[in-house]
Amino acid sequence: MPKTQSHLEAQLEALGFPFALPLEAPHYIDGAFVKSGTPFPIVYPATGEAIGQAYEGQAEEVDRAVQAAARAFRGWSRLAPSERRRYLRAFAAKVREYKPVFEVVESLDVGRPIRENRQGYVERMAHNLEFFADFAVTHGSEAYPMENGYWNVVQRFPVGVGALITPWNMPSMLATWKIGPTLAFGNTAVLKPAELTPLGAWLLARCAHEAGLPPGVFNVVQGFGPNSAGEYLTRHPEVRLISFTGETTTGKIILKNAADSLKRVSAELGGKAANIVFKSADLERAVAVTLRASFFNQGEVCLAGSRLLVERPIYQAFLEKLVAAVKALEPGDPLDEATTLGALIAEEHLQKVQGYIDWARAHAEVLTGGRQPELPPPFDRGYFLEPTVIAGVKPTDKVCQEEIFGPVVAVLPFDTEEEAIAIANGVPYGLNAVVQSRDVGQVLRVSSALEVGTVWVNDWFVRDLRVPFGGAKQSGLGREGGHYGYEFYYETKNVCIANV
Ligand code: NDP
Repeated sequence: MPKTQSHLEAQLEALGFPFALPLEAPHYIDGAFVKSGTPFPIVYPATGEAIGQAYEGQAEEVDRAVQAAARAFRGWSRLAPSERRRYLRAFAAKVREYKPVFEVVESLDVGRPIRENRQGYVERMAHNLEFFADFAVTHGSEAYPMENGYWNVVQRFPVGVGALITPWNMPSMLATWKIGPTLAFGNTAVLKPAELTPLGAWLLARCAHEAGLPPGVFNVVQGFGPNSAGEYLTRHPEVRLISFTGETTTGKIILKNAADSLKRVSAELGGKAANIVFKSADLERAVAVTLRASFFNQGEVCLAGSRLLVERPIYQAFLEKLVAAVKALEPGDPLDEATTLGALIAEEHLQKVQGYIDWARAHAEVLTGGRQPELPPPFDRGYFLEPTVIAGVKPTDKVCQEEIFGPVVAVLPFDTEEEAIAIANGVPYGLNAVVQSRDVGQVLRVSSALEVGTVWVNDWFVRDLRVPFGGAKQSGLGREGGHYGYEFYYETKNVCIANV
């Protein structure tokens, strides 16, 4: 008897998705797709159903991928940057060709609404690859002539094999942020995506493969973190650099493991951003910015403005507008264009986020949300949570100190600039902040005083690839972006020439 088509299968067919369920997310090693290691399920967060399987890479798969990358490095590192650009442009063109597929895959992997994937997400992925390829071609180096006639010439050369370790919240975007500079600057790569989101990495490997990248230049090893692909990569003696994005605690473990073989590590870690709304802000815009900063990608964003600081004279009016806008968000089927809030990544994570809401119910006030929305089957088995606003908290409460990583924002009133700055800086993290104000002097004073890597003024999450990106304090080590990534992705050499 023919199998009846599931709700998801019917949706995928209607969307023109070219692959049939169950999906497979193999490794990509030395130019070939490899199914080896123990299979593990790929779970769709919106329904909790297994939609396919990936394979857990162990020491053997990691070693094969690293060896392939090391062999490929010999040729790739010697190519002219313009040659590497040709390959990366072909890679980016493939990403664009697969745009509708990536838009679906990101929803399947993460549970994010497809409408968010359609807002330039895939174009940004392609741009991430092209930007660094162009950068490597157009940027020169420095020379320092000395008074005694000697000349110093600063040269840069590729480092070697890079391990790119990414989290589950924006898997394909974050992978391309790392693949772009790694390959453009002449290194080769082994990508280890989060075990919860193996599909985007597999699709990126398909793009690299079809674009004709030489075997071994870009590899993917699927798997887990500790005692699995992630840890083996960070310990492998031939891996020379690790670009890691993930939790602060994981970053510290990776730094320790990398120390034995003195690898360089770039670490983009957790955050607890303050979104500071002053009374001089354009209120309508501030509400719209706050909605995005708090609930984009279900709030599962390291940059999320999860602490909302509002100047007291506008506190009530602002909250009324915000709560009305939050209530209008539509949780549900991520593949439905009308959905504005997706599912959280996993059951365990949903419980963790609910734990903070339980705390708020007992010790503070839940202004809206806080429960699992009632959704029709099959979404009643998904990991959904209503968008939640918490008030009546102190800056030192755990909901204001710890990264919740869900659709939960804690609101705090303040009276002075000094107070807002002290609250904003009063956390262990220092990734970013948002300042909403139309008073230029205030913007300058406040943004200068914030201990963070990025301040967005009257907006949130606008990324120019030329500028430095990274975190202060417990939010990271190093900066990536434009020439700020040189120290990490390149070796630097000084050639001192006598004038004879
Ligand atoms: P994790 O730190 O749990 O995991 C990140 C990656 O590291 C995953 O691929 C994971 O594999 C792997 N990993 C885990 N343990 C080890 C280990 N011992 N050795 C090597 N690799 C390991 O982060 P999440 O995936 O939970 O992502 C959420 C976090 O990412 C949040 O803290 C968020 O703030 C942060 N983040 C930071 C960003 C920034 O730019 N600063 C941007 C986006 C997110 P596996 O998943 O299989 O365990």
